[in-house]
Amino acid sequence: MPRRLLSPARAALRHHLTPAVVLALGLAATLAAWALARSTLRMQSRERFVDEVDRASAALNERMAAYEAMLRATSGFLRGVGAEPSALAFHDFVATLDLRDRYPGIQGIGWSKLIRPDELANHEAEQRAAGRPGYRVWPPGARALYSSIVLLEPLDWRNQRAIGFDMFSEPVRRAAMERARDTDDPAATGRVELVQETGRERQAGFLVYVPVYAGAPATVEERRDRLRGWVYAPFRAGDLLRAALDATAMQKFGLSAYDGTELRAEALLFEAGARDDELRLALVRRIDVAGRPWTLRFAAGRSFESATERLLPLGVALGGLALTLLLFWATREEVRARTRAEASARRAVFLAEASKVLSSSLDYAATLPRVATLAAQRVAELCIVYLERGDPRWTVGHATPEVASRVRAAVEGSGFERDVEIGPAAALQGGHPRARSGFDPGRIALAARAPALAGALREAGVGSSLTVALASRGERLGTLTLLAGARRRFTRGDVRLATDLARLVAAAVDTSRLYAAARAAVRERDEFLSIASHELRTPLTSLALQSESLRAKANRLQLDDVARKAEVIRRNVDRLARLVASLLDLSRITAGRLELELEPFDLAELAREVVARFEDEARRAGCTLELVAPEPVPGSWDRLRLDQVLTNLVSNAIKYGPNQPVEVRVEGVGERAVLTVRDRGIGIPPEDQARIFERFERAVSKRSYGGFGLGLWIVREIVESLGGTVRVESAPGSGATFTVELSRRAQTQARSPATGLSPAAPTA
Ligand code: ADP
Repeated sequence: MPRRLLSPARAALRHHLTPAVVLALGLAATLAAWALARSTLRMQSRERFVDEVDRASAALNERMAAYEAMLRATSGFLRGVGAEPSALAFHDFVATLDLRDRYPGIQGIGWSKLIRPDELANHEAEQRAAGRPGYRVWPPGARALYSSIVLLEPLDWRNQRAIGFDMFSEPVRRAAMERARDTDDPAATGRVELVQETGRERQAGFLVYVPVYAGAPATVEERRDRLRGWVYAPFRAGDLLRAALDATAMQKFGLSAYDGTELRAEALLFEAGARDDELRLALVRRIDVAGRPWTLRFAAGRSFESATERLLPLGVALGGLALTLLLFWATREEVRARTRAEASARRAVFLAEASKVLSSSLDYAATLPRVATLAAQRVAELCIVYLERGDPRWTVGHATPEVASRVRAAVEGSGFERDVEIGPAAALQGGHPRARSGFDPGRIALAARAPALAGALREAGVGSSLTVALASRGERLGTLTLLAGARRRFTRGDVRLATDLARLVAAAVDTSRLYAAARAAVRERDEFLSIASHELRTPLTSLALQSESLRAKANRLQLDDVARKAEVIRRNVDRLARLVASLLDLSRITAGRLELELEPFDLAELAREVVARFEDEARRAGCTLELVAPEPVPGSWDRLRLDQVLTNLVSNAIKYGPNQPVEVRVEGVGERAVLTVRDRGIGIPPEDQARIFERFERAVSKRSYGGFGLGLWIVREIVESLGGTVRVESAPGSGATFTVELSRRAQTQARSPATGLSPAAPTA
């Protein structure tokens, strides 16, 4: 099955596949680029976050170290004082530390004195006596050891509330106090609520203790023994952390600080910043606060990411998408353009094939069915050519010949004329192409009252038609209709194709008709020539006989004048007879009726006869006519016809070479006989040498030399019929040599009748 011009499914696939692949690849690449950009930027922001977190925890560590150092210094101050510090000295000392500005978050610095049970009453009495009438150690109750906050600076109303408080009585504080006592290092408590904490803005707190001994104890026992009390500082965790971390850091991420190593709600010291729902990054860091582990959880939300980090992936995605769409569009356009170009190339190939078929013969009855079938195979399902004066009127092409002949039988019976919408009638009226899709064959049946046609069309599976008019040289010839499946829509390209095809078909039909008309004219001419030459021969024969007897009688009566005139009549009658003979030959050869009668004879002998016949004529023309035939050249040929060959060649030699010698030569060369006629006349230009052997072809002007242009043609026809060849060698002004070569045992060759038209019909 030849490749169809338009296969909708394949075209659609080709149309859509490549752009779809481009689209898919583009989207995949965009997705990958987006993911890569996002993960790279996330990594970047994470690194930044880690940096910031490290910086923040380092800052916190540093700050705590500074606080510890400050507490150690206070402890050193109290150790130095030795005895019980005075409230004034302590106040002055703490005042120099400038707590509020330099150590934010610290609530104060206090001195908590260790009191053994036996000293308790004494201690309370001393304090009351020293101007603190309401002083007591609290909470009340009997305990193994007491402690009391004796000094606390700055002694504002808040801190005032803590005076006399026995921190040793409270387990969380006590644990830190004991640790400090035993290690001689600052020790922080776990999370506590400070006694100073009142009001609404409660914060978690913790305390740091530094022991104060009497002397410099070295062992744990000595330390317990010599402990005098503790320098301590209460901290509000929130204030401390806020102060330790700079404000911008706190804006960028959230921080939760836990006492201990776990993230337990009850150990939460402080929480601020990013909420969990938009959490992007989280890091946990441990730090040591006066011998106690703290767990810091840093968390960054969306706002931590920079604008670039947030927007770049989106930008990449949008850019990629735009690029992909652009690429998709460009590919689709490209594919469309290519499909169009290929379709037009295939159309051109189809038209070239159609034109080859149409030019293969001049008989359109032979070529139209082939072209219609080709069109049905390539561009439609069915192709119907209608010729108004056609024979046949309807030509139908379909891939299946049986379907084609059924449709043809149906249209021949009914025709399309009545359906004005799709049929040839419409195209014939309007003259421009008519296309219609999706018609129902049943409708045509109704319109045309032709159930057979409807059935045939249904069987052919068609429901769309395209009809164009056939016209040539302004004359309307008929129509060409392409029919395809009902779903096929004929495009503008199809209309162009159908129009081009119609033009080719119309030209072929027109040419074919012209050719037939010309052939008929030639046939009539040949018939006329045949009849005319026959009719002329009879009176000529009688004229020849009469002039001969007239000449004989004049000679007898010695009427020289009359004899000469009779002689002239005789010569002209001979010439006339030759002309009539060649006209007769023309019709015979043209009709393929040149009959040869082979018989054995001597060609040299024949040449001698002919030369003798021409002696008078040669003499009158001033030529010396010489025959060179040293020995007989026997063979089997048609005697009369070879006489004619010799006659034509010798009469030409005399005619075109007057007053010059003419030589006739006959030789036997092995199996062949060679006859040459040579003159020294006007000669023939090289470009005319082939042409002069054709019918009516001449290389001289009619005015200078009379003649039909048939002599050499007849020579060639006869020689070739005998299986021989004839050729000429000549140069202008130096004469011509005609050479005929014949096989001695000639066999007649079948010659096809000439068409009478030049050039002959192509057979390819
Ligand atoms: P005709 O002589 O009637 O014209 P021919 O068929 O015999 O027709 O010759 C065809 C043409 O060939 C002549 O018209 C002439 O131009 C050329 N020709 C033939 N024979 C000769 C010749 N011997 N010398 C020169 N030209 C020749």
